[in-house]
Amino acid sequence: SGLQSSAMAEKPDPVHWHDIGGLVAAKNALEESAVWVYKHADAYKRLGIRPSKGVLLYGPPGTGKTLLAKAVATESSANFLPVSIPDLVKGHVGESEKAVSRIFQTAIRCSPCVIFLDELEAIFSSRESSGDLGATNHPESIDSSILRPGRLDRLVYVGAPTAEERFQILQVLKLRTKLDAHVDLQTIALKTKGYTGADLQAVIRKAGLLSLKKQLSEINQESIELALSFVGPSIIPTDDEAM
Ligand code: ATP
Repeated sequence: SGLQSSAMAEKPDPVHWHDIGGLVAAKNALEESAVWVYKHADAYKRLGIRPSKGVLLYGPPGTGKTLLAKAVATESSANFLPVSIPDLVKGHVGESEKAVSRIFQTAIRCSPCVIFLDELEAIFSSRESSGDLGATNHPESIDSSILRPGRLDRLVYVGAPTAEERFQILQVLKLRTKLDAHVDLQTIALKTKGYTGADLQAVIRKAGLLSLKKQLSEINQESIELALSFVGPSIIPTDDEAM
């Protein structure tokens, strides 16, 4: 069940910083607030720096929040313990408490461990929040109680990628795909305003399937551009955004 799986620490395929395209500011913030405490544990002690208690990653779906959390675990040589909050709270009364206790027992046993609480808004959604963008998109839709000092004390925004970031994401995806040498990723990056990392991955996958259908041995520019008519952007860009 979900509750069982939510108490399993993982050492899955390691995600490194370089596996994540763009998101330089988010990576730097996480390196400083979550990785240094492991990498420089002695210096933290010597200087009397108090580690951050927790980090809130927020932003639209598919922009790389889970990847970032996994990279924090890899770069800190820590285990990764993903917890789906909706799974955690869906059981009968009393079950969630047991599951939480199991999660912490697992975390202690697998220490050091990054605990990744996904879809926090399932329990911490603010009563005042309104609007149709979805609770994950804005930190103000998260109840302020969770952002008090001593709880999640660092906010890191993970937004829609800019054209330059989309180029960087496509370069990461290229490493795992057989692309024709003439594919111009700059052009694809410019044509994919509003596409998240997850969307770009879906585009390349669709291009792969289209190539398969045409019995091509590599994915070419034409297949990728055709794939764009099947896979749209999940973010509707506004004019004022530098995308
Ligand atoms: P959600 O809020 O829906 O959980 P998320 O922000 O956690 O989404 P991820 O699960 O990290 O998004 O991303 C989904 C997939 O999209 C990743 O497994 C990866 O393949 C691809 N992806 C997203 N962002 C990037 C990126 N910046 N660089 C490379 N790949 C990316």
